[in-house]
This record gives sequence, structure tokens and C-alpha cells, in this order.
Amino acid sequence: MRVSRFLSKTLRQDPGEAETASHRLMLRAGMMMQMGAGIYSYLPLALRSIKKIEAIIREEIDAAGGQEVLMPALQPIEAWQQSGRDVAFGDNMFHVFDRRKREMVIAPTHEEAITLIATANVESYRDLPLLLYQIQTKFRDEPRPRAGLLRGREFTMKDAYSFDTDQEALDVTYQRMRIAYRNIFRRCGLPTLEVEADSGAIGGKDSHEFIMPAESGEDTVLVCPTGDYAANAERATSVIPPAPESAPQEMTLVDTPGAKTIADLVDSMGITEAQTLKAVFYAADKEVVLVTIRGDIEVNEVKLKNLLEVRELRLATPEESVAAGLTPGSTSPIGLTGIKRVGDKSIQQGNNFVAGANQADEHYKNVNYPRDFEVDTIAEIGTSKAGDGCPNCGAALDEVRGIEVGHVFKLGTFFTRTFGGDYLDDAGKLNPMVMGCYGIGVTRVLAAAIEQNHDDKGILYPAPIAPFQVHLVALNADKEEVSTAADATYAQLLELGYDVLYDDRLGESAGVKFNDVDLLGLPVRVVISPRNIKNGVVEVKRRRDDESAQVAAADLPATLAAALAQDEL
Ligand code: ATP
Ligand code: MG
Repeated sequence: MRVSRFLSKTLRQDPGEAETASHRLMLRAGMMMQMGAGIYSYLPLALRSIKKIEAIIREEIDAAGGQEVLMPALQPIEAWQQSGRDVAFGDNMFHVFDRRKREMVIAPTHEEAITLIATANVESYRDLPLLLYQIQTKFRDEPRPRAGLLRGREFTMKDAYSFDTDQEALDVTYQRMRIAYRNIFRRCGLPTLEVEADSGAIGGKDSHEFIMPAESGEDTVLVCPTGDYAANAERATSVIPPAPESAPQEMTLVDTPGAKTIADLVDSMGITEAQTLKAVFYAADKEVVLVTIRGDIEVNEVKLKNLLEVRELRLATPEESVAAGLTPGSTSPIGLTGIKRVGDKSIQQGNNFVAGANQADEHYKNVNYPRDFEVDTIAEIGTSKAGDGCPNCGAALDEVRGIEVGHVFKLGTFFTRTFGGDYLDDAGKLNPMVMGCYGIGVTRVLAAAIEQNHDDKGILYPAPIAPFQVHLVALNADKEEVSTAADATYAQLLELGYDVLYDDRLGESAGVKFNDVDLLGLPVRVVISPRNIKNGVVEVKRRRDDESAQVAAADLPATLAAALAQDEL
């Protein structure tokens, strides 16, 4: 592509509205254009990368046995009413009405549609396993569209769905898909962590997320440096730091004027957070629940929600707490009845705690569980954090921020039971097919790749997903010797099969052209200039390197191949 003919123009200035590096750089580089909140047109630079990512995904999912289909975005609401997900998705799903005033939805995901396809086509175990996928536009009315393509309201997803005879067969498919995912991200040149993920209330359903480390990410993962454990913080378990233990003392009431928080107690009593118990109140589907946890540990709301098996969980308001008979600032499980009480396992590690006394300005000291108070349920509901021990080997866990680019999930039989997705087994008996589902946010991968690969001048594409592999720059292109040599090199590189962006502009300075080279971030720059021509060389520079090399024109193909190969993982 010749820059003189190219649609997109780069911006000199940073666009004001951009929130993260990828958002800012994609707008500045002219990769995309916003049309509404979370809604973008993909211009050639973005679309070329998206197509390369899609091509890698297709090859790997095909190799794993996938068959590509394409399902409608526009769907009758009845399928969603049947699964109950019209309610579960709530405001996140777009609703529209057809000319006969029939309600339709614009699908945020495709479990309903794919289950209808499998149900209509699978008869017996001979038709299984079945792996279907599509690369398609998804619509989600996200409450907070964010950071360009990272969280859009219209975005491209690869979604795959597997159908198996039973749980063991699903295990095999699931494993194959995890390997396909590892291959995809490796081939894209994007280091990605595979982590255990939350799988909802009903335990035993495996789920893994693929997280691309990046500071701007919304996910926190805990990773063992020895490589034997990685989990999303929502789900991670760990060995918590020990708390001081001594011989149990008698529980006594102490005056604590004005002390309302754990920090107040730590200051006024000269103790550590791990020597306190804190009480946190939640509204769980409207019921107030009291959680008791060691003072140095935070409640993990995902774990608590799964434990309580509720739809909605949030901190209770002071009014709700008071109405439930609690004393905010001094609440304690001691002597408290008539309310649901949950304890975190941490209250069993440590003793002689300071805890609330259910009256203002008083606390108990030397509180010991279970001697001095009861809970209805004790479970692990604490948040793991950096420095906690790895659950497998005890080594201190690291905390990494990242972006979820993929998610694989053992779905089970919910949808096949709902839509009559049975198959005949070899004994002639009907059973529901067992499903798995597997998503990759294609457009999010591109944004995450840029979050992960940029510097203060611009993008640093990994070669496999760069919109063009080579940025060919002609300096002083108005000189005939330059345009002749550069045109010839352009033709040669195209002939060799490279994607080339050729900056043939006549009026632009070397400075402007090199700034664009750095901003666009194509893996290799090749410069043709009067001086290089005089010396009988072309200049080659990897975007990631500081130094350029002067190579004889005849050596250009070999030099390019070697430079591009360096990005492969
Ligand atoms: P998130 O937690 O980020 O909202 P999710 O868990 O709802 O995502 P899934 O339903 O698992 O997402 O979708 C599969 C993949 O689609 C995700 O791993 C992510 O890469 C991508 N994705 C989800 N929502 C968006 C969005 N709003 N914009 C871009 N990509 C998205
Ligand atoms: Mg997910």
C-alpha cells in the first residue's frame, strides 16, 4: 500500500478522550474511528490486524476439529425466554422490535442458537464429539464501555461450543481447546497467562481465562513464580500470613472511645491487623449477612456470592445494617443471633483477637473462635494477595494485572436440557449432550496487544499480527533515483509475499516519516535514501531495536526474514 493513496492520516497530537495507551495509539495512528460510545469503524490498519488474528484462530480451531458456522445476531426473544437469560442478561442485552411489534434481541453470545443447531443435527453418539465455532460481531450494552476496543458495545468474538457424550469426553475436548488457545496466543506473538477462573456457584465446572499481562488491565491474577499455580484473584486460594498465637486468655470488655475501624484499633491498642476480627455486612438478595474475617484480610465477594448462592450481593447500607440489629463500627458475632453469620477460615488462624462488642466505644479483647462466638458457615471467602503462599508449594505469590482475552468453560447440560439436546447412546438411551464453550475477544486481542507492546513513540507490533510487516520509506522521494529504487524495492518485497506499507510521499520530511514509522509500529523499517543509494545499500531497522543495519540490496530478503522471525514466540 502506498501511503500517498492510503485512507488513514496519522494525528500529530494525542486525542484528548483516550483512556489507555491502545485507545490513544489506535486513534492517533488512524486505525479506527469512533461512531458512538463503545462503537467503532475499523479502518484498514486495524482491520488488517484483526484479519491476521482471525486467520490464526481459524487455523488452530480447525486443527482442533472445529467446523465454522455463522449464526444470526438478530434473534427472536423466545429462545432467551426459554433459557431464562433474557432476565439474566438484563440491561446488557439490546432489545429491538420488528414491524409487527415482536420483540427481538441482538445477541450478546450464542449458546441458545448453537444448542438449537446441535439439537436439530445430532441424533446419536456417532455424531459426537461436535465442535462448532464462529467469528462474529457481538453486541453488549456494557454499563461502562471503556478504552476503545478493550470494552466495546459492538465487538468481534470467536465463540466455539463443544458437544460431547459425557463429562469424560468433555474433559478431552476441553484439554484440546486449552492447547489450541495456547497455540493461538503463541502464534500471535503475545505472551499470555492461562489462569484458573471463577466458574460460579456450582462447583466442579472447570474454567480457565487467558490473561494478557498489562498495567491497564481490569483483572488481577495471582501467579506462583515456580509456575505451578496461576488463578484469577476472584478465585485464587492461598496460604495466608500467620497471626501471632499465644495461650488463650479470658475474654474481657475494654473501652475504645471513638474507635470505629480496624485502623483505629491498631493505633490505639498497639496491635497488628492480624490480631483483630472485622465484621462486614452484606445485602445478599435483600437478606443481611454478617461476615467475620481476620482484620488483615479482605472479603472476596465472588467467593461469598458463590457460597451463598445468591443473585445479587453488595455491601449493606448503614440503614439496612441498623434495621438488622447491627451496630456499625462495633459489630461483632459475639452473642449475635437472628442473622445469618458467615466466618472466613482466617478466624481459625490466630487467637486472642480484638473484636467488636455490639455497642459503641467498646470492644472485646482475647476473643477466641469457636470458644466465644459461633457462625453458621465457615468457608474460605478471603481475597488472596501478593505475598500469600502458593497453595501448591508455599512460595510467595506474585500479583499481575492483565486483560482477559479468552475464556474456556465447561458448561455442562444446562442448555441441552433446556432445548431438548439429547442424543442416543450406544445402549439406545437418550442423554443430554454435555457442552463446553470457548471465547476469544478478537478485537480486544488487538487492543491488548498494543497495551502490551508500545513505547512512548508508538506501537511495537509482534510481526504475526502487524497490519503490514514492512514499512518502506523513501527519503527525498522527489529525486528520481530514489523513487526508481524505492519503487523497485516495493515491487520486489510484494513479489516475495510481504505486506508492505510504502511511504512514497513527496512533500514530507524525514522527521515526519520516521515519526509515523514509530507511531504505526510495523516490525521492520526499510529506508531508501540518496545516501544509501550512493553507498549501494538499503537501511534496515527493527522497530524494537535502536540500531539500524546497512545491507547490500541483494541481502535484503534474507535480512528481512531474519528480522521478522525474531518476533515469533
Ligand atoms: P468481561 O469479564 O471482560 O466483561 P466476559 O467474561 O463477560 O468479559 P465472555 O462472555 O467470557 O466475556 O466473552 C468471551 C471473550 O470476549 C472475553 O474473554 C473477552 O476477550 C471478550 N469480550 C467480552 N466482552 C467484551 C467487550 N465488551 N469488548 C470486547 N471484548 C469483549
Ligand atoms: Mg469471561
